[in-house]
Amino acid sequence: MTLFINGQWIKTDRTETIINPATKEAVGDVYTGGKDEASEAINAANDAFKTWKAMTGNERGTILINIADELLNVKNDIATMITKEMGKPIKDARGEVASAAAYLKWNGEEAKRIYGDVIPALDSKKQLMVLRQPIGVIGAITPWNFPVSMILRKLGPALAAGCTAVLKPAPSTPQCAIEVFKCFERGGLPSGVANLVIGDAEAIGTEMTDNPIVKKLTFTGSTNVGKQLMRQASENVQKISMELGGHAPFIVFDDANLDDAVNSVVGTKFKNSGQTCISTNRIYVQNGIKDEFSKRLAEAVEALNVGDGLDENTDMGPLVNEAALHKVDDQVQKALSAGASTVTGASVMENKDGFFYTPTVLADVTDGMNIAKEETFGPVAPIFTFDSEEEVVERANNTQYGLMGYCFTNDLSRSMRMMHQLEYGMVGINDPAPIVPHAPFGGMKESGIGREGGTSGVHEFMEEKFVSIKTS
Ligand code: ADP
Repeated sequence: MTLFINGQWIKTDRTETIINPATKEAVGDVYTGGKDEASEAINAANDAFKTWKAMTGNERGTILINIADELLNVKNDIATMITKEMGKPIKDARGEVASAAAYLKWNGEEAKRIYGDVIPALDSKKQLMVLRQPIGVIGAITPWNFPVSMILRKLGPALAAGCTAVLKPAPSTPQCAIEVFKCFERGGLPSGVANLVIGDAEAIGTEMTDNPIVKKLTFTGSTNVGKQLMRQASENVQKISMELGGHAPFIVFDDANLDDAVNSVVGTKFKNSGQTCISTNRIYVQNGIKDEFSKRLAEAVEALNVGDGLDENTDMGPLVNEAALHKVDDQVQKALSAGASTVTGASVMENKDGFFYTPTVLADVTDGMNIAKEETFGPVAPIFTFDSEEEVVERANNTQYGLMGYCFTNDLSRSMRMMHQLEYGMVGINDPAPIVPHAPFGGMKESGIGREGGTSGVHEFMEEKFVSIKTS
């Protein structure tokens, strides 16, 4: 298993062993690189940029759509690799591959619809235009929680725009990235257009920000690493897109359909074992329905089948590694000692081989607790209560994060007010699953900069050039 640079599979003198978080067994060894390999990949991308940008959008899009078909042809194999490397249930892993292919296909189609603008001039002899041109070589750094779709959500629009790319995948899921690059190869992507450098995060990341050939960095990961990369990128005034942490509120008013709300909390909290940046982090339940809501949520959560994701019956897999497991438990134990109570769960599953945490519901959680502020990347649903709409809006917005907010109510006027007042880049009203390839995904405040998806996602990889032509 190797790096992929300029259309060649490359070995290095270092390897790393990947561990299955459900069993703690080895999934395979991969070769790893650092600064030199990153630099070589950047040069290859720079050479390929000359021809890739000169192709028509239609030609580029056709190749991207071929690659999407290649992904779907091996959906089961890639899904199995996702489950082995990071633990999510195989049925969700298949869903992830399908979603990744859908992103790629949409961007492939969008490649032929990258328009410029014509601006009315104040002088009849002038013609004013805005051209959209690919920004150049881009660096992409992706996380492990969606190890396939995150790659294509970045490289899909970048390649559609005419950019070429160097990808550094997460250290725990490199073989998923290798599977994606095999599809690039089979789908006919020209050499050098997309390059894969697995290995030393800091060294590769620093080469991506310091090498002046790289014109844009797109990153998904923790807010701290994002801030560090923003500082590094400022040196060359490199353009950036950042998808960082979240702390999604999930607000349930007493007029909501309770079954829908409960099922949606289960979906948004326990999918991926709670390890997504748009996972529900704070459940605000209006006081009149709190007991009924907790009871129904506990029943639904206790029915979840926790185990190895390769088992078709598994609803929830392990956490990604031991550190993640301890971080989640630490947050829960701190909340309990600060006065929260256990509705269900709240412990490490010692009887299993891997990094499993019991699906947990906590009640009596208050705003001062650690869990109310720090992102929970795990299967823990903390219930807060509120009285009025005004109060809950203020509390829901009282965070440095601003990625995703959910709200359940059957009052249309209230829905409209909530839509306007929630300070989040994305808001789902009675909708726990709003994300689609053709809509902008991204956050406000410290949750990030820029958008992935939709037309804005493609424009993130383009420069606008204003041209004025004066005729005689
Ligand atoms: P998580 O805690 O979810 O793993 P990270 O922000 O640590 O989130 O990781 C997201 C991605 O950022 C991974 O690909 C990781 O290897 C990479 N990364 C971590 N630290 C750095 C760094 N200093 N420079 C560049 N990339 C980094």
